[in-house]
Amino acid sequence: MAVPISQAWTVATYVLKQKLSGRKRYPLVLMLEPLFRCNLACAGCGKIQYPAHILKAELTPEQCFKAVEECGTPMVSIPGGEPLLHPQMPEIVAGLVARKKYVYMCTNALLLKEKLHLFKPSKYLSFSVHVDGEREHHDFGVCREGGYDVAMEGVRAAVEAGFRVTTNTTLFDGADPNSVRRHFDQMMEAGVESMMVSPGYTYDKAPDQNHFLGKARSRKLFRAILSNRKKTWEFNTHPLFSEYLMGKQDFECTPWGMPTYSIFGWQKPCYLLQDGYADTFQELMEATGWEKYGAKSGNPQCANCMVHSGHEASAVDYNFSSLKGFWTTAKKYIFRPQYEDADAQKLLNEWKSESRGPLVQIAGQTPVVVTTSVNENMTSVAGD
Ligand code: SF4
Repeated sequence: MAVPISQAWTVATYVLKQKLSGRKRYPLVLMLEPLFRCNLACAGCGKIQYPAHILKAELTPEQCFKAVEECGTPMVSIPGGEPLLHPQMPEIVAGLVARKKYVYMCTNALLLKEKLHLFKPSKYLSFSVHVDGEREHHDFGVCREGGYDVAMEGVRAAVEAGFRVTTNTTLFDGADPNSVRRHFDQMMEAGVESMMVSPGYTYDKAPDQNHFLGKARSRKLFRAILSNRKKTWEFNTHPLFSEYLMGKQDFECTPWGMPTYSIFGWQKPCYLLQDGYADTFQELMEATGWEKYGAKSGNPQCANCMVHSGHEASAVDYNFSSLKGFWTTAKKYIFRPQYEDADAQKLLNEWKSESRGPLVQIAGQTPVVVTTSVNENMTSVAGD
């Protein structure tokens, strides 16, 4: 089971209550960003280019609890920045667990092993470890040689200590689907509960602007990765979101599904864009021009976006919007399709690994970006 039954039940009853009360827009997961500071400087990250005084700022535990109570979601994801750099993170997590929130703390795990003793295993707490693929691919993605080995030490220590551990993997152009599939095997062997995989978003602040995936390219890559899947693989994303990535479903974005709260306030409209801030969750919901976002809006910032923070809530909402949606989803959980697909297998067999440049290194605030090469696997994709 990709998530404990109690979590699935809590989320299902929460969504049903929203639907029965006729609430058109409801949040599902709070993205709580208590700080932007990080101990990595990844080339695809749009969060760490803030000036020093912003990187030093942090939310207090009280601010975190107030945000959680304001929006009322059953799940809280704590990205950042690196949450383990926040000196009061154990207190924040303990307060959320006491409120019976299912917490996913997103960490690069560089500090996980040494800080593990500050947390208590609980069904409400998962460490969601950022692992972007096999050793070489991860180290390239996070711009840190040896980063993979340290992260995996943290994963193993947390699994051994009885914590729930999941992984999150962000893919960019140049990802090798065969390598990603080997990575899934390795994560399951390491004892992780389940995995999440999503395409990266084209952050305009990210130092490396050349490796973001377009939509057609994303679908081709995810079809190669997620078809013909192994029974041993467990994913904690909604099965219809996985089908969306593979090009088998089409969902519009639900930007209010995963609202973001940070030191700036409630971010409009989503985790990725910053079109202003609201002081309260209510103001965010009432004062945001939601029609300006999503692929159909024509907003160029949304044109290539397929990220889970915008689209997984759409899959969940579809699930609970009709008997057809409910039955479509139920079948996926009961029968666990492996998506046999001969063309996807052919794609895997013929995929040519792309040679990489050197790591993107970031010195101070000055990025030194790799020279890019053409990805032969993607050049013939129609419509991109
Ligand atoms: S499509 Fe992506 S960028 Fe646009 S509002 Fe949705 S999540 Fe944000």
